[in-house]
Amino acid sequence: IFERVSARLKAQVGPDVFASWFGRLKLHSVSKSLVRLSVPTTFLKSWINNRYLDLITSLFQQEDAEILKVEILVRTATRGVRPGSVDEAIVEQPAPQAQPRRSAGGPQPVASAVASVTASAQPRVQHTGPLFGSPLDPRYTFDAFVEGTSNRVALAAARTIAEAGAGAVRFNPLFIHSSVGLGKTHLLQAIALGALSSARNPRVVYLTAEYFMWRFATAIRDNDALSLKETLRNIDLLIIDDMQFLQGNSIQNEFCHLLNMLLDSAKQVVVAADRAPWELESLDPRVRSRLQGGVAIEMEAPDYEMRLEILKRRLAVAQHEDHSLDISPEILSHVARNITASGRELEGAFNQLLFRRSFEPNLTIERVDELLGHLVAAGEPRRVRIEDIQRVVAKHYNVSRQELVSNRRTRVIVKPRQIAMYLSKTLTPRSFPEIGRRFGGRDHTTVLHAVRKIEDLISGDTKLSHEIELLKRLINE
Ligand code: ADP
Ligand code: MG
Repeated sequence: IFERVSARLKAQVGPDVFASWFGRLKLHSVSKSLVRLSVPTTFLKSWINNRYLDLITSLFQQEDAEILKVEILVRTATRGVRPGSVDEAIVEQPAPQAQPRRSAGGPQPVASAVASVTASAQPRVQHTGPLFGSPLDPRYTFDAFVEGTSNRVALAAARTIAEAGAGAVRFNPLFIHSSVGLGKTHLLQAIALGALSSARNPRVVYLTAEYFMWRFATAIRDNDALSLKETLRNIDLLIIDDMQFLQGNSIQNEFCHLLNMLLDSAKQVVVAADRAPWELESLDPRVRSRLQGGVAIEMEAPDYEMRLEILKRRLAVAQHEDHSLDISPEILSHVARNITASGRELEGAFNQLLFRRSFEPNLTIERVDELLGHLVAAGEPRRVRIEDIQRVVAKHYNVSRQELVSNRRTRVIVKPRQIAMYLSKTLTPRSFPEIGRRFGGRDHTTVLHAVRKIEDLISGDTKLSHEIELLKRLINE
C-alpha cells in the first residue's frame, strides 16, 4: 500500500517536489485505521504535516477506506549517522518549552494520558495509561503565543480558563473562531498545556472534532461506548478543535449530551472553529444553540509587529536547537512585511528559509522574494470564506446553496458547482480535500478535476472569464 500511495503522491506533486520532501519518507507501521510514517527530522515532519498531510491521508483512504488517520513520526538516528549530527540532536533534545507534567505513578487520569500523547514523535517516551485525545504539540504554549490587538481578548479568555480551571469561569462555553492559520489550535493547546501544568491537576481532554467522531465510531463498533461516555463525563475541561467538521446524527447526538452534561455541572468547555457558532450550518441546532450560549470571540489576522515577533520567536526556538543558525533582521522584517495572510504561511516561509539557509548561507532579499513569492499575499489579507463563495455563486446562477452541495448532477447545477469549487481554491487557502468536504463530502479528486476544468474553459472563453471576474468582485464585497 505504501508503494502505491508513494507512486500516486509522486504523480500528484511531480518528481521534483517528491524528491525534495518525500524521498526519505518511510512506512513505520499500519494498524487497522492508523498509518504511521516516519521522516528523519522534525523539520520534515512539520513541513509535511502542514502542507501534505491532507493529501497523503486521502491517498491512503483511497487505497483502504478503513484508514482514518496518518501520523508522521521522527525516526531516531540509525547507524551510519554520526553521533551528535543534526538529526539525532533534534530527536534527543527535549522540547524547548516547558513539558506538560507526566505523573509518574498512581492513578492515571485522562489528563496525563492526553499529555503523554505529546510524545508520539519522541520514540523514547513510553505511553502510560490509555491513549485519549489528539496529540498536543509541546511548542504550543502561552509563552510562545504572540499577543496583539487581533487576539488580545481571545488570549485573555484562554489564560483565565487555564489558570482558573473548572467552575471558576464566567464564560462557558468559550468559542474561538477565525480563518485558518490564525492561531486557534495553538491557543487551544496552550489552554490544555497550561491547565495540565497547574497544581489543580484537572482532567483535561483536547480533541479535534474529527478525532471525537473517530473515537466514538470505534467505541460504538467495539461495544465500548459506555465506558467512553463514562470517561468523558468525568473530565474538568473539554477542548474541541475544528468544530466545523463535526457531522453525523448519532455522533452529534452524543456530543450534545456530553455538552449539556458538562455545562450543567459547570465544567469548562472550549471550542474552536473556522466560523462563528451561528454560521455552523451543518451542526445540529441543539448543539449550535448550546454553543451560542457562551462567549464567542473572533481572532483576526496578525499585524506587522506580531508577524515579526512570531518570526523572532521561531528563530529563537530554532537557535535553541542549533546555535549556529541565524537569519538577518532585514530578512526577518522583510518576510514579516510581505507574508500577511496567516501564521501558517509565516511558518511555511520560516521553515523554507531555514532549510535554504543550509545551502545558501548568503541569502539576499531578492533571493528570499524568489523563494517565497508563492506565499506573498497580494496586498492585505482577504478573508474569503467558502460559504460566501457558495452563496454568491448560487445566487448568481439562480440555484440554491443546498443544491450546490448536493449530489445532483444536472448541468444547471454542475457548472455553478465547479465554478464555486474553482473560486474556493483560488480565493481561499483551503486544501482540495477540505474543499471537497465543504461541498457535500466530495472527494478531493473531484475538486481537482473541477478546478482544472474551469481553468481550461476560462482560457478559451472570454465570456466565462468575465463572469468569473464579476463573481470575484461580488465575493469580495
Ligand atoms: P489555526 O488553528 O487557527 O488554523 P494554528 O494555531 O494552527 O492556526 O496556527 C498556525 C501557525 O501559526 C502555528 O504554527 C502557530 O504556532 C502560528 N501562530 C498563529 N498565531 C500565532 C501567534 N499569535 N503567536 C505565535 N504563533 C502563532
Ligand atoms: Mg487549527
